[in-house]
Amino acid sequence: MAHCPICTSRTDSRRLGGRFFYCPDCDFHFADLDALPAGGDAAVYDAAYYQRGSSLLDPLIRAFTCWEQKHMLSVVRNCRRVLDIGCGAGFLTQRLQQHGAEAYGVDTSSAAIALAAQKVDPSRLRCGTLAAANFEPDFFDAAIAIHALEHIPDPVAFVTEVRRILKKDGVFLFRIPNFASWEAKVAGDRWYHFDYPFHVSHYSPQAATRLLQTSGFHDVRVNHAAAEYRQTLLYSVLAALKVPLPLWLKIVLLPLQTVFIPLSWLLARLGNSGTIEVVARK
Ligand SMILES: [Zn+2]
Repeated sequence: MAHCPICTSRTDSRRLGGRFFYCPDCDFHFADLDALPAGGDAAVYDAAYYQRGSSLLDPLIRAFTCWEQKHMLSVVRNCRRVLDIGCGAGFLTQRLQQHGAEAYGVDTSSAAIALAAQKVDPSRLRCGTLAAANFEPDFFDAAIAIHALEHIPDPVAFVTEVRRILKKDGVFLFRIPNFASWEAKVAGDRWYHFDYPFHVSHYSPQAATRLLQTSGFHDVRVNHAAAEYRQTLLYSVLAALKVPLPLWLKIVLLPLQTVFIPLSWLLARLGNSGTIEVVARK
């Protein structure tokens, strides 16, 4: 038995090998924290975490990331002071700074902050949780959290803190995996974004919307056209067929991914993309 972190109702529905609870009211999967490997976040997010998947494909992936960040940057283009939550190695923080924003970054990993400090003004970086950073209230015009919420076991406290440090009408934009997507359903716990024990919260668009409304945000919009992680649709099909995916096979399959790009686009148009971008206002 557990309490849903979003709506607090009790649930004893266990899924995904018993490692997650499910709240049917919110359509939200949350990890059984007692079953997580010992050591906690600080132990698992070391320097190696930020170099995971480093490969010959990195320059290509980086170029694609820059292209697909264009929409996100357009959402915050008029925002002066912007916070990058879970900034990791600081690629987006740097991009925001290049676009004229007073860009801040926060991350729980000292390894990540050390990498970010090579790219952006170190005085605007904080190592620790968002709450521990203790920014002034009504400080930011926008806060961005790219693939951070799925790592957080207490999302209401987190989103409430984001709301506290945003100015009135400030923008909160985040991206998360979409656990209601076709590719997630097909692949189950072999899904690219399942990523246990790093990912402890799995949202549907309904769960994300409820989280924001519960925390006092308004004008919630869910965008299914986030052009990122195009490879995951192909990987989900292979996971469903129980095909292992070593790096050499990923490289061999690269041309095949181009076939899946139109399929990803079609699923996004149908409101069923593998990741979603959620935008709301304080
Ligand atoms: Zn709930």
